[in-house]
Formats: sequence, C-alpha cells, structure tokens
Amino acid sequence: MNERDSEAVAAQLMAKGYGVAPDESQADVILLNTCSVRDSAEQKALNKMDSLAGQVRKHRPDTLLGFMGCMAQSRGEELIDQLPDVDLVLGTQKIHRAGQYLDDLFAGRRERVVDTDAEKGSEAAIREHLPETKNNSAGITAFVSIMQGCNQFCTFCIVPYTRGRERCRNIEDIVAECRGLVDDGVKEVTLLGQIVNSYGKREIESKDGKSAFVQLIEAVHEINGLERIRFTSPHPKGYGKDLVESYGRLPKLVENAHLPVQSGSDRMLKLMHRGYTRDRFVELVNQLRAVRSGIGVGTDIIVGFPGETEEDFEHTLSLCKQVKFDNAFLFKYSKRRDTPAASMPDQLPEELIEERHAHLMEVTDEIRQRKLQDYIGRRMEVLVEGYSRRNTERLEGRTRCNKIVIFEGGDRFIGQVLEVEIESATKTTLYGNPAIINLN
Ligand code: SAH
Ligand code: SF4
Repeated sequence: MNERDSEAVAAQLMAKGYGVAPDESQADVILLNTCSVRDSAEQKALNKMDSLAGQVRKHRPDTLLGFMGCMAQSRGEELIDQLPDVDLVLGTQKIHRAGQYLDDLFAGRRERVVDTDAEKGSEAAIREHLPETKNNSAGITAFVSIMQGCNQFCTFCIVPYTRGRERCRNIEDIVAECRGLVDDGVKEVTLLGQIVNSYGKREIESKDGKSAFVQLIEAVHEINGLERIRFTSPHPKGYGKDLVESYGRLPKLVENAHLPVQSGSDRMLKLMHRGYTRDRFVELVNQLRAVRSGIGVGTDIIVGFPGETEEDFEHTLSLCKQVKFDNAFLFKYSKRRDTPAASMPDQLPEELIEERHAHLMEVTDEIRQRKLQDYIGRRMEVLVEGYSRRNTERLEGRTRCNKIVIFEGGDRFIGQVLEVEIESATKTTLYGNPAIINLN
C-alpha cells in the first residue's frame, strides 16, 4: 500500500512538471514514505531522515525534506520537534495535497506544513499512476487502491489509528481507473485494501447473493485486455461463500490468496481480536484448494505476542506443517503505542521471540522450498513483467499462483502471457524455458 501511495505522489508531482532525480544528492525534494507497523521501520525512517538532514544542511540547504505515511500521521508535529530540518509532514489522508504544499513551501508562502487531519473523500484521491517503463514490471502490472483504513482493531496493530476508519471508493470509479490502466498496456491489476475483501460491506448492498467485493471483481473482470486480477490483503472473515466460489468461475481471478493467519493458537487469535478460529482458517484454505487446485496460499504470522506460551507457539508450528503455506512472512511482535496489546501482561523477552522466530523460519522455509521443487518439470503460465532485476540479460515474470520465474528471452515477450517449462528452483525462485506457445 505504501508503494502505491509513493507512486501516486511521484505521478502527481511529475504531472506538475517535477522530474525524478537520479539520486538523493541531486534532489530538490526528498519525501520519505513511512510505515509504523513495527518499531524497526520507524527507527529506520528516523535514522534515514537524520542522515539526509545532515547532508542537506551541509551541501544543499534549499532542499525540502518531508515525511509522509503512517509515522507522519501518528507523530505529526513531534517529528519536527525531533528533526527541525523537516519541512513537510503529510498525513495518510493528505497525500494528494503533496504538490500543493510543496508549491507553497518553494514559493515561501509557508515555512512549514504539518497536516494530519482527516479528509472526507481522500480514499478516492490515490489514483495517479506513473507512465510505463519497459525495464521493470511498471506498465504491465499495477496496484489499485480500492479503500482506505481498517475497523478491525486487532489488538497488536497500529493501522486503524494511522489510516483511520474503513472508507471505500465506488465501483464505477475503480473500474474506470482499471480500464485506463489496461488501455495503457497493463495486463494485471492488484486491488488493494487493509481488509480488501470487506470492501463496501456497509455502503454497497449485496446483489443476487454477491457481496460488494465480488460485484467489484466481476466488473473488473469484464475489462477486455485485462489478463489477471489479484487482491491483497484479505482477511479470513471476509471470505464468504460468494468469494470462494468466484475462484471457480472467474478465470482472470488468479489462484493465489494471501491469508494472514497471525497465529495457530485459538487463545492467541482471541487475544489478538482476529475474529476467526484455527479450524475456520483451515476450513477456508481447504475450501479454496477444493475450488481451485494449485492455489498459492501465503500468510503473515506474528511470533511472541504477549502471553504466547510454548504450547501456543507449538500450535503455530503445527498449523504451518498442516497448511503448508507457499510463502510465510514472519514478524517478531513489536509493541505499538496506544494499542491494547502494548499494555497486556506477560510481554515476552526479546531473546525468546528471536528464538521462536528462527525456529518457525526454519520450518516455513523448508516447506516453501519443498513446494517450489514440486514445480520442476511442469509448464506454468507466466505473465512476463520485464527484465530480471538481478540479471538484466534474462526475463522475469510471475505464475498465476505468484511464483517468480526467470528465463531467457527478449523484449518482444514483455507483457505477454507465455507457457514456461520449469527446469530448476532456488530457495525463492523458479527458473525455466519458454515453450513456443504464446497464450495471448
Ligand atoms: N491488514 C492486513 C495486514 C496489515 S499489517 C491484515 O489484517 O492481515 C501487515 C502485517 O504486519 C500483519 O499481517 C501482521 O502480521 C504484521 N504486524 C502488524 N502489527 C504488528 C506488530 N505490532 N508487531 C509485529 N507484526 C505486526
Ligand atoms: Fe491491522 Fe488487523 Fe486491520 Fe489488518 S485487520 S490492518 S492487522 S487491525
């Protein structure tokens, strides 16, 4: 989501005549987009800004420095007290105002801007995209923000405080943005939201048993020239029957689901306020796998939530072994201020969290690698996104189930859907050979 917000700000500024600087030392404006989900991300952004401020003061005193994103929202004015060289602090509902505020600052109309107010309609303001570039996935795949905020208030999470309550865009608006992207050559869209599958739950009525989210997917599915639809991040509780059964009838909806489970222990899930049980989660994964075999299932897990016992942790290990996630992002619990979990008893010592994190990583890595090996010898449908970031002599694309595939090939394949025969696999990536068949 942050990546998408950064893109929208860059596109907004380019439309005003700004250009992208080759590096920080030549930039007239440096905006840091910040994440507050974990403390380490905040510290990294603060250190980065401190070092930028030092360089700017010495070499380019007219350069404007700004923070945007969740930390800008939650800390506001406090950031300027801490780092007085900062000129702009832009809250999460204000990023569409970046250009206007920078104009004010450059023209000397204002000396500093801190704006973290809520703004009605801001959920519909993240719509600009950068123009196509052929050497990476920009131009072939695109993110589309369909809503902002979250109402779930998981007890560990700062997002509802930094991004505000859930607000959704309307279906026509989103479809028009997707259509514009496809007209510009985009082949795959990823619909974005904190609980993307609770989109429009309150604002848009169900129709023929179909939730607002399924109505939206169907409308996007109709766009000619669009090959693939993804969405992230769904919440297990947003997977109604209608969404599960969509995987069986909407071919552009790829067989991939990122389903953050957070823990395998019902006791932890309750304390986290996640709204599902382990059994319900497993049932959901089974339902999805039954509707679409080969569906890729990824997850997020928090290790060391307050009060997590050895037994709770064992439940998470056993869930991973049972479900066999294709990909698991593991996070060490990080205390976030003003969240209910921050004042829960039995906060775990760092060493124990480290130890459990390393143990779980070993288990999930092994499962992921074994699953990748199973692809060797199979033909997979790959959307070619551009040249490989690591080796610019080769092409890179993704399977429908979201595996990265690297293979030999030239310019003409970029943006095409090819069948690629998988020949080998490393820890994270598949390598293959394109078959002659072009599936476009
Ligand atoms: N809306 C999404 C995820 C948003 S944050 C969802 O509900 O699934 C992305 C991930 O960061 C979360 O899934 C969680 O695993 C992790 N996370 C959030 N708060 C955290 C915290 N305080 N400490 C550690 N990890 C956290
Ligand atoms: Fe945070 Fe929970 Fe909302 Fe996800 S669903 S953003 S983890 S509060």
